Amino acid sequence: MKNENPLNQYYAGKFEKQLQPYPGLQSKMNPVPDTGENTYQGANKLVGKKAFVTGGDSGIGRAAVIAYAREGADVAINYHPDEEVDAQEVKEIVEKAGRKCILLPGDLREENFAKEVVKKAFNELGGLDILVLNAGMQQYELDIQKLSATQLRDTFEVNVFSVVFAIQEALNYLGAGASIILTSSIQGVKPSAHLVDYAMTKSCLISITKSLAEQLGEKGIRINAIAPGPIWTALQISGGQPQESIPEFGQDQPLQRAGQPAELASVYVLLASNEASYITGQVYGITGGAPIN
Ligand code: NAD
Ligand code: MG
Repeated sequence: MKNENPLNQYYAGKFEKQLQPYPGLQSKMNPVPDTGENTYQGANKLVGKKAFVTGGDSGIGRAAVIAYAREGADVAINYHPDEEVDAQEVKEIVEKAGRKCILLPGDLREENFAKEVVKKAFNELGGLDILVLNAGMQQYELDIQKLSATQLRDTFEVNVFSVVFAIQEALNYLGAGASIILTSSIQGVKPSAHLVDYAMTKSCLISITKSLAEQLGEKGIRINAIAPGPIWTALQISGGQPQESIPEFGQDQPLQRAGQPAELASVYVLLASNEASYITGQVYGITGGAPIN
């Protein structure tokens, strides 16, 4: 196989400024993020497994869902009700791969929903082996004194509390060999000035990955986190970054460009698969080069 230069293996140009209301639609972005539709090739790594993925409509979660389906897994996805258009696209792609795709829209800020949706996923899939808690909310704020209580609560409810509630519910169903994967961030270890609340939540996910690896080890359940760097997704253009940061988004990384969600899929597959039998409590950086420790 021929080498590919990572500097231009994916889009390496500037991005147009573009603003959407939270949570944003991937299908309306320019360029549309690459979530692996045209490239990901499965190799039967997850045949017969059942996966539930939050934020599975777009971005990093969608790249994981497409890869899981092509590796032979049935999937259920959660997303915000405003993202139905993106979710329908995912359903079509998954079904083309010959797998089930169960759509479970709803707002993860609600405690009852965050639990109920896991129960529904288990019931409708007829089992649960892989739990990817990937939904996230990021709204930049330059001044701590202007950080509203509502934003602080919303960000913690989506990024942290829903993860705890979903894991509590899922442990009623997960057995030995199951895998939990959280989407943390480089922000969890290297917080930016304009992402105070968001960065705190991503540190929380690294913490819970380590404490639960200790707690769940004896059950044969693994838990790991992925810490992405700057990835071109709807979260960034729907309040995640100031508009003036969009054109050169990601270009300060050693690999000189933003990542695309498709570039993360293989690690979500590895951590979900039986091949990761001795991997738990770890944090995987996929950052374009920024060190995560
Ligand atoms: P994305 O916008 O494509 O996905 C985020 C998803 O979170 C949305 O699609 C939505 O379904 C879900 N979500 C947000 N608020 C919700 C709510 N109230 N209820 C239910 N679902 C809700 O963007 P993405 O970048 O792929 O984000 C996926 C994860 O990756 C997030 O946890 C994000 O923090 C993390 N992350 C992203 C980057 C990046 O540069 N894009 C970097 C590090 C970490
Ligand atoms: Mg989305």
